[in-house]
Amino acid sequence: MDAATFRRLGHQLIDWIADYRERIESLPVMSRSQPGEIRARFSDRPPEKKSDVDLISAIERDILPGITHWNHPSFFAYFPSNTSFASILADLVASGLGAQGMSWQTSPAATEVEDVMMDWLRQMLGLSPAFTGVIHDTASTATLCALICARERSRGVVYSSEQANSSVEKAARMAGFEHFRAIDTDDAHALRPDLLARAIEEDLARGLRPSAVVATVGTTGTTAIDPLPAIADLAERHRMWLHVDAALAGTAMVLPECRPLWEGIERTDSLVLNPHKWMGVGFDLSAYYVRDPAYLVSVMSMSANILKTAQDGAVRNLRDWGIPLGRRFRSLKLWFHLLDMGVEGIQARIRRDLENAQWLAHQVDASSDWERVAPVPLQTVCMRHRSADSSAIADRVNRGGSAYVTPSAIKGRHMIRVSIGAEGTERHHVEAVWRALREASVAIMHQA
Ligand SMILES: *Cc1c(COP(=O)(O)O)cnc(C)c1O
Repeated sequence: MDAATFRRLGHQLIDWIADYRERIESLPVMSRSQPGEIRARFSDRPPEKKSDVDLISAIERDILPGITHWNHPSFFAYFPSNTSFASILADLVASGLGAQGMSWQTSPAATEVEDVMMDWLRQMLGLSPAFTGVIHDTASTATLCALICARERSRGVVYSSEQANSSVEKAARMAGFEHFRAIDTDDAHALRPDLLARAIEEDLARGLRPSAVVATVGTTGTTAIDPLPAIADLAERHRMWLHVDAALAGTAMVLPECRPLWEGIERTDSLVLNPHKWMGVGFDLSAYYVRDPAYLVSVMSMSANILKTAQDGAVRNLRDWGIPLGRRFRSLKLWFHLLDMGVEGIQARIRRDLENAQWLAHQVDASSDWERVAPVPLQTVCMRHRSADSSAIADRVNRGGSAYVTPSAIKGRHMIRVSIGAEGTERHHVEAVWRALREASVAIMHQA
C-alpha cells in the first residue's frame, strides 16, 4: 500500500469508526451471530494475488454481525471496557510509529512516556510514591508476574477468596505453585480473614509454607471488597507476598471518596488495575504497581548480549519488568485519554456511574418481585427475581438486542449482573434496562 492509498483509506476508516459510534445504539448489543457464521464468509485459502476488496463493505458485511458492542450505552454485561475516541487515535499513532519499547534505547519516548503516565496514574489513585508502575497487557499477566515473584521467595501455598477472578488460580498454577486455597466468603461475598487464618494454620501444621495471598478489591462477580487491613496483618505475620487485584475497581480510586474501600493498600507488595476497563482507555492497558522494583527486575531480567546497551543502569529497560521482550507503545493511549478528559472529567463519569448503580439498587430494593444478592459498593448491581428464572430473564433481554446483561450465579443461586459504566451510559439507559428486565420477567411468568 502506498502512502496515498493509506491516506485515502485511512480517512474513510476514521469516518467509518465515527459513524459506527454515532449509530451504535441502533445495533443489537449482543451479537446474534451463530457459531461458524462469520468464518463461513471467508475463503478457505489466503489470497494468492493482491486483491482490492472494498474494506468498508467487508467490515459491514463480514465483521459487524459478529461483534458484540462493548461501547454500546446499553452494554451492562461482564464489566465496562470503554475505548474512548482519544485512545483510538493514540493506538493509531502507536501503530503508525511502529516503535518497539523493549529497551530504553529502542525508542526512548516509549519508556519515558510510560514512566510519566504510571506516575500520573499513581497520583490519580492517591497511592504513595513508594509504588512504581509498569504497563502490562492484562491483569492476568500482572498477577502472574506477582505470583512468579512470590514463588522466587518461596514455593508454598497461594490463597485467595473463592470469588477471586479465575486468572488468579490460573496464575498460581502457571507460576508453578502446587497448592492453591480458595477461601470462603461472608454474606457480602468478601474473603473471611478468620477462615484465611485457619487455612494458614492448617497448612503450617502440614509442613507447607504460606507464600502469597491475592486480595480482590472489586470481585468480578459482585464487586465485593476483601478486607485489606486484616489480610495485610496475616500477610505480614507469615511473610507472605500480598498482591491486590483491583482490575475493575482501581478506576474508582480516582475519586477520593472511594479510597476507604481499599484502605490498607499501602501495605501490599503489588497491585494491578485495568485502565482498559472502566477508565476508558482502549484494551489493552493494565497498570501493575510494585513496592520493590529491584526485586521484580531481579526476577524478570535476562542479560542477553544482543540486548545490552550503553545506557543500561541509567534507564529503565521495560523488558526486565515483565514477561514479553517486545512491547507496544501503550502509554500513548493513557496520555491522549487524560489530555482529553482531565482527571475531573474521569471523576465526573465515575460519579455518574456510581449514582446510576445506586439508583438501580434502590429500584430493586423497592420492588417486591426482585431482590438484590449483593451490596453495591461500586457500579455493579446483582439481582434475582423472586419467582421467575433469572437466567431466562437475562437471555430474553439479551436476545431482544436492546441491552446486554450477564446471567450468572453466586453460591448456587442464579442472578443477573447489571454492570454499569460504558462511556455513553446515561440514567435513561439504566431506566430502560430495568424496564426491559421487568417486562421480560412478566413475559416469562406468563409462559410458565
Ligand atoms: C477483569 C478482571 C480480571 C481480568 O482482567 P484481564 O485484564 O482481562 O486479565 C481480573 N480480576 C478482576 C477482579 C477483574 O475484574
